[in-house]
Amino acid sequence: MTKALFLIDSYLKESPATVVSVKDGKYVTLDQTVFYPKGGGQPHDTGKIIKGNEGYNVVYVGKFSGEISHEVDHIGLQAGDDVYCVLNWERRYKLMRSHTAAHVLAALINKGTGALITGNQLEEDHVRFDFSLEEFDRTVLEEYLAKANELFGTDVPVKWYELPREEAMKIPDIVKMAKAFPPDLPSLRIVEIVGFDRQADGGTHVRNLREVGKVQLVKTENKGKNNRRIYFNLN
Ligand SMILES: [Zn+2]
Repeated sequence: MTKALFLIDSYLKESPATVVSVKDGKYVTLDQTVFYPKGGGQPHDTGKIIKGNEGYNVVYVGKFSGEISHEVDHIGLQAGDDVYCVLNWERRYKLMRSHTAAHVLAALINKGTGALITGNQLEEDHVRFDFSLEEFDRTVLEEYLAKANELFGTDVPVKWYELPREEAMKIPDIVKMAKAFPPDLPSLRIVEIVGFDRQADGGTHVRNLREVGKVQLVKTENKGKNNRRIYFNLN
């Protein structure tokens, strides 16, 4: 099983690794990785796997039967190779800022309206959210964004750690995603915005709300009964 270094330290930008297997020349598993695989509404990382003088672009990272697979742009890597992995940090850091921003906004809207998030997707340039709400006034939404921006101007630490499942499930609103109930594992990874919100979550986040910067509303959409979609992005 690949050691997921990004779960321990989301600020790790590079790391040595050993190639464990290569399928069809292009699908590579490693003993440990800094690359986040697509999942939980967060896009996969990109970057390079370097062997000697040769760089292999990582174009996709996914999780298949529990294993993290890195798709590279050309063949040449082999099982047993010692390699060096380097993230496209600009892309990842933006996604970390967006992901933490999304948790803050979800928590504010959930606390204020009781609405559950029925879908969410981070992209490089925006975040999309679906809420189970009948009505959602743009003015009200702007108020939530203003509250979020106020929080992003304060020193609030963000932490992540494992908790035994039983203990985690006792935390009120530990799952705000209506469809993303955590898998049946003995322990859950918790992302805590200290004093504000705790979520079962496998994504990568910034260490302090100040790092988020500011967010702005892009647009809102009515997606039918009980479904409101909003798009926001980082300033
Ligand atoms: Zn999340």
